Amino acid sequence: QPVEVATLVATTVDQLRPLVENKGLSFNIDVQDAQIEADAKRIQQVLINLISNATKFTEEGEVGLRVEALPKVVTFTVYDTGIGIPESEVQQVFEPFHQVDSSASRRHNGTGLGLAISRDIAIAHGGNISLKSEIGKGSAFQLTLPRLDIADVPTGGRASLAAG
Ligand code: ATP
Ligand code: MG
Repeated sequence: QPVEVATLVATTVDQLRPLVENKGLSFNIDVQDAQIEADAKRIQQVLINLISNATKFTEEGEVGLRVEALPKVVTFTVYDTGIGIPESEVQQVFEPFHQVDSSASRRHNGTGLGLAISRDIAIAHGGNISLKSEIGKGSAFQLTLPRLDIADVPTGGRASLAAG
């Protein structure tokens, strides 16, 4: 069903703000609205996973969520100023049960399933998740989902104009 991105993000952010701010981190939100075709609860679960990870692996600075409405897709970027992820682990962190084996991350618990599940949910929605990270500087996880817009409506709208 059609989901309003701004509403979904607002609910998620309200829920996670105490987690982030109680750790002394600033929580920066920047959202462009759009509609997506999605199971809102599942997408919310992905954002919760990404923001909880960002908080778990950051000791100072910020955690942020930036949503951009591009012509075809919506991107949700969750970034942090945390410990970062080694280049060699960037693909592996999406594997079930994989956790980066450093003393800093070993201090935290979890099952290592969050990112595997998150990527499955993204793919099930016709999207994906990518990762950019720098050791000691931070990480940015980007969830991309197809945008639902007037061109997707079968009758009228941009689609028929383009076809004509
Ligand atoms: P779970 O989510 O199941 O509670 P988890 O958080 O360890 O456990 P994932 O969310 O799948 O599992 O993350 C896998 C691993 O990727 C983490 O254990 C950590 O080593 C690394 N990781 C994930 N997000 C970040 C991040 N924002 N900064 C640094 N490392 C990260
Ligand atoms: Mg996790």
